Amino acid sequence: MSDRLTIALSKGRIFKETLPLLRAAGIEPTEDPDKSRKLILDTNQPGVKLLILRATDVPTHVQYGAADVGVAGKDVLMEHGGEGLYEPVDLEIARCRLMVAGREGEALPPAGARVRVATKYVNCARDHFSDEGRQVELVKLYGSMELAPLVGLADFIVDVVDTGNTLRANGLEPLEHIADISSRLIVNKASLKIKHARIREFIAQIADAVAAAR
Ligand code: AMP
Repeated sequence: MSDRLTIALSKGRIFKETLPLLRAAGIEPTEDPDKSRKLILDTNQPGVKLLILRATDVPTHVQYGAADVGVAGKDVLMEHGGEGLYEPVDLEIARCRLMVAGREGEALPPAGARVRVATKYVNCARDHFSDEGRQVELVKLYGSMELAPLVGLADFIVDVVDTGNTLRANGLEPLEHIADISSRLIVNKASLKIKHARIREFIAQIADAVAAAR
């Protein structure tokens, strides 16, 4: 069925901010993922389903064609590598910055000094510090990165920062900007060929909705 469309999304901020864009494309979920335990949600369109995933698993599902399209943060895409994916639209939602942060008043030492950095973004961090010519030991974490410098697990962290309140509340400050982040529409390359008309229409509707929201 070439007009069927499976859309991969994560709960929370991305879901909430994507809903108005989906609505503009004529797609309304019939259930709220925060109130349902279902991982596949129906929509008002019989051929359109939503997969509710962990944010970091969205690119993988789209890469392997388990979903035709998806919404993922640029941070998650940079870390994933983007293999097998088109990224046709910047949705301009869930904006934040990927940053290096450390304890207040403590600058990064000169390149050459060895530092330990805690992050869930190990690929992004490795690339960033290698561009600077720094040797870093990376400690992979899955959350609460802000804790690492406070308990001596690491000297610095790489994490996404929005208002900076979480850093400040934990005695940390931003030190280096790595990338501006927002959520992107991603598309499986094979789906785009097989369901060309349906996916092109969907991309155009979403792009129009983004432009209208600007
Ligand atoms: P803030 O205190 O406003 O700087 O928010 C920082 C916290 O919220 C961090 O723990 C981040 O992991 C998370 N966060 C903020 N913005 C985003 C975003 N756009 N996507 C994912 N996580 C975010």
